[in-house]
Amino acid sequence: MSYAELTEKYFRPGRLPHIWCPGCGHGITTGAIIKAIDGLGLDKNDVAVVSGIGCSSRASGYLDFNTVHSAHGRALPVATGVKLANPELNVIVCTGDGDCTAIGGNHLIHAARRNINVTVVLFNNNIYGMTGGQYSPMTPTGSKASTAPYRTIEQPFNITDLVQAAGATFVARGTTFHTAQLVDLIKKGIQHDGFSFIEVVSACPTSFGRANKCGSPGDMMKWQRDHAVMKLAWDKMDAEKQAEAKAAGKFPIGVLFETNAIKEYTKAYDEVIAIAQGGKK
Ligand code: SF4
Repeated sequence: MSYAELTEKYFRPGRLPHIWCPGCGHGITTGAIIKAIDGLGLDKNDVAVVSGIGCSSRASGYLDFNTVHSAHGRALPVATGVKLANPELNVIVCTGDGDCTAIGGNHLIHAARRNINVTVVLFNNNIYGMTGGQYSPMTPTGSKASTAPYRTIEQPFNITDLVQAAGATFVARGTTFHTAQLVDLIKKGIQHDGFSFIEVVSACPTSFGRANKCGSPGDMMKWQRDHAVMKLAWDKMDAEKQAEAKAAGKFPIGVLFETNAIKEYTKAYDEVIAIAQGGKK
């Protein structure tokens, strides 16, 4: 299906044009989500998209599914409620690094811990874009931001390690440069029976890029190309080489972790309901 046909099928025409800046990675990430949904052949009525607040969270308003544009940091509690109310729905969360890892950080780790079958797509552009370029928990150390004009001194989260440690059963990372792989990762996340988390390394040329002299949007895409390392190649490096790669700003992309060993939350919940209805304790 062409981009024009995908747009006509999956976007709400009355909500366009979108607000995203030229060169923003959010359009590519949103495009990857609809390509994944289309590729899986899901009916639009069987998909719910929930978002929080921020540039990335505008996606829920543009997309023609069952959607909720919720409160800042609260996409995951809403998504959890949607999934519990209707476990048949494919629930996808669109969220940014400020929304998901700062104010929503507590919700993130507990949704991961519960292993509820929702798919989180983290649009990680390393900054609060919409609210004025403040640094987020994902802003690299030494970067400049409106709240750190002389550069940040905090360490960013390794968010994929964090959600894995919290209990997520599918963890992946992609970039907006490697679009075919990104579509595949989102497809796998949707198909996974448990909490799935896909970090998308994206670009905010306006807030992050200007403050940090990253060049054009094309230059920021080339940065992704030159710093992402396929997981297979990453795993072939010994610990010393991986440490050198990390120090050079490189990171692995692909499926980072996957297990089916933990029961999905709504299935476990159904068992409790059956026990309660049977009058047993
Ligand atoms: Fe994208 Fe940044 Fe513009 Fe927001 S401010 S739309 S994240 S480029």
